[in-house]
Formats: sequence, structure tokens, C-alpha cells
Amino acid sequence: MFDSLKERFENIFANLRGKGKLTEEDINIALREVRRALLEADVNFKVVKDVVEAIRTRATGRQVVESVTPSQLIFTIVYEELVRIMGDAPVPLAVSPKPPTVYMMVGLQGSGKTTTSVKIARRMLKGHKPLVVACDLRRPAAVDQLRVLAEKAGVPFFGPEPGERDAVAVAKKSRAFAESRLCDLIILDTAGRLQLDDELMCELEEMKSASEPTEILLVVDSMTGQEAVNVADAFNKRLGLTGVVLTKLDGDARGGPALAVRAAAGVPIKLAGCGEKTEDLELFDARRMAQRIIGMGDMEGLIEKVQSATSEADIERMTQSLKTNRFTLEDMLVQLRQIQKLGPLEKVVEMLPIPGASKALKDAEIDPKRMKQTEAIILSMTPKERRNPEIIKGGRRRRIAEGSGTSVQMVNQLLAQYEQMKGMMKTFGKMAGGRGGFKMPR
Ligand code: GDP
Repeated sequence: MFDSLKERFENIFANLRGKGKLTEEDINIALREVRRALLEADVNFKVVKDVVEAIRTRATGRQVVESVTPSQLIFTIVYEELVRIMGDAPVPLAVSPKPPTVYMMVGLQGSGKTTTSVKIARRMLKGHKPLVVACDLRRPAAVDQLRVLAEKAGVPFFGPEPGERDAVAVAKKSRAFAESRLCDLIILDTAGRLQLDDELMCELEEMKSASEPTEILLVVDSMTGQEAVNVADAFNKRLGLTGVVLTKLDGDARGGPALAVRAAAGVPIKLAGCGEKTEDLELFDARRMAQRIIGMGDMEGLIEKVQSATSEADIERMTQSLKTNRFTLEDMLVQLRQIQKLGPLEKVVEMLPIPGASKALKDAEIDPKRMKQTEAIILSMTPKERRNPEIIKGGRRRRIAEGSGTSVQMVNQLLAQYEQMKGMMKTFGKMAGGRGGFKMPR
């Protein structure tokens, strides 16, 4: 996701690295690059202009204090501005104090309304009894698609009678059905078109007044470009949106809608769809997204992932070694075992905010056979050696190689790899200690 944008930003910061003082010319060059990067990512030009101007105002005339390099300064400002245009804190879905809560899902055909309706229902199963309602009577397969997905997810479903053509009537009837089944949350999956269309808007307006929705959520495919802004604007003017759901963030989205749709609709992006399965839905978090866009990796996502794959004891150990900056060979063994448990390595590497992480992990060649040898080598060391690897010199290396049935060369490789991981853990530790879990590059 956002690969080319990420690369562009990394280059911008790299070019500023090593500069002692920020001249107007430096700022101009950096801003020109920021503008180009955002426009190429299909961010709406008005939003680009707004961001670039905000960065210029904040960067110009700023005294560069000694502890902050120009690269760090621009990086922080760009980060904060990206967060600002995507919306600060995550905004949860509203729940009506007087049930039922009604969510009306709107958007173009193919944006992901049907899938997202079930995703939201599934997410709300904790604490609610949701009902999904098929009000998309135009796309022939839509009703069945919703029924099948709902069944799989264990969510009650309500749809039209055979041959019924009036979507507003279905929405109205769903209320009584929800009441009879004690459902306190109704999710209306409405029809979409390939393009904006007046007839559809009229139907949606009618549905809105008939069902008094708590939320009207616009579903936007994050792979669409500039069009997303017009769509958001049009839906908002006619219906008054309360939130946006960005879908398909798992694909190779360029970033445009994520960065521009909030400004266009003037409402928060509330949720992010990140896969085809009904569990692939996350709260949209602008900080996390900005970190990904400017190439700092998804720290919080990574931490969550690591936590779900590790035991309490492992987490405690890792936290300790991060805090004290003491990363031993025992920690390394735990780490390598965890990495194995984390699943597809590329996904993990993508989340790592550490320059060189991808290469270091590739070098580690985490295949099961290699893991066994690594384990054997570490286990052939004395506890003292594991905690103080710097004492492992020539004689000890030979003994360890013999004891583990490997070679001195493999012991050397492992120690080199340890040094590399230690460096990474240091960076990681510093970042984990910072606000929001991110740290500026040097
Ligand atoms: P609708 O026409 O707006 O109801 O769109 P659908 O819910 O039918 O979705 C269109 C296509 O996009 C389907 O093939 C979905 O599986 C797919 N889709 C929806 N959300 C996501 C997502 O977050 N990630 C991915 N990869 N695919 C998605």
C-alpha cells in the first residue's frame, strides 16, 4: 500500500539529511517534491495546495534548534500535516441512545458496500445484535451476496420478497423485523451505480427520511483516484454524510482518497477495509496511516501483531530488553521463534519502521532448518556467553561449533546477525519510547 508515495517521502527526507541549516531554497525544493509526490498519488490538488502551504508556513522562519536536524523538522511537520488532513483521533461509530441504531451504507457500485455492511455487523456483534438489510435491488446478485456473507458471519439478514422492487419499502419493513428479532442495530446495504446518478440519489434521500439513520456512511474504494473527491462531495451535499469507510487498503492504493476524502466530505474517515474477509475491518487511525505513508512503518499494527503471537512472558522479556537496551542472544532466540509464528514475513517486514529491516530479516533466512541450527548454536553456549556475546572469541567459537554440530563460520554468521538485530532493537526501543510510538529519522 502507498509504496511509491512512501518511496518519494523517504527520498525527500534523505535529501535533507546531513544539512546543518534549513535555507529557504531547501524548503522550496522539499516542498516541490512533497507537492509532486502527493499529486502523483492522486491526491486532490486543492488538498495538496492546502498541505504544502501549511508546511511552508510552519517551516519558514523556524529556528532550527540544535537537537533537531532540518530533516527531522520537515519530517515532523509533514507527518503532522498528513495526520491533520486525514483527521486526528479515530472516531468510533455512533450508537443511538434509543434503539434501533441505523447505519445506511452508500457509495458507488463495487466500492465495497455489501462486504463492509457485513464487516461492520460482525464487528458490532460484541455488545449488539445487528441485522443486515438488502436494499440494493438493482444489482441482481447483491441480495444473495449479502445473505450468504451474513450467514457465514452469523449475522441475521432481512431482504425483499421475490420480485419486490421498492428498496425504501424494504428499509421500512426491516424495522419491524428487527424489533421482532430483538435486533438493536440495522445496517442498510443500498444500491450503487457506476457513476453519480440523480435517480439513485432521490431513492437514497427517500430512504434517509424513512429510516432516520444514526450514521450515513460513504464507502469509498481507496484505489479510485481524483473521482473519490467528487463522489464524496456529491453524496455529502445530497445526504449529509456522517462518516467514510475506505476500502481495499490492502491493495496497491496510491493514497489519493485516504488523503483527500476527509477534506472533501468534511466528515471523519471512521473505518478501513483491509481485505476481502469479513473480519478485515479496522478503525481508521490517521496517525498510523501517516506513519505508513511517510515510511515509518506501522508501529502500532506491528506491536499488536507481535503481541497476539507472543506469550506474556515473551512480551515482558522483550519490553525489558527494549527498555534497558540490553538485547542478548537469548532475546534473539525468542525473537526468531516469534518471527516464525508471525506468519508471512513480507507483511511483518512491511510494518517494520527500521531502515534495513527488510534486508536483515532476509539475511536471517528464517527457514525451519536454519532455525534448528541457530537454536543448537545458542543452546551450546553457556548462560554467561548468551548474555554477554562479546566474550565469545576464537576458542569459544570453536567449542560452540563443535558442541552444536555446526561450523565456526556458522557461529560467526550468527554473531554478525546478532549484532545487526541488536542495532535494530536499539532503534526500535527508542521509537517505542516516543509519543505515539514513532521517532524522527536522523
Ligand atoms: P458493492 O457493490 O459496493 O456492494 O461492493 P462489494 O461489497 O460487492 O465489493 C466489491 C468487491 O470488492 C468484492 O469483490 C469484494 O470482495 C471486494 N472488497 C470489498 N472490500 C474490500 C477490501 O477491503 N479489500 C479487498 N481486497 N477487497 C474488498
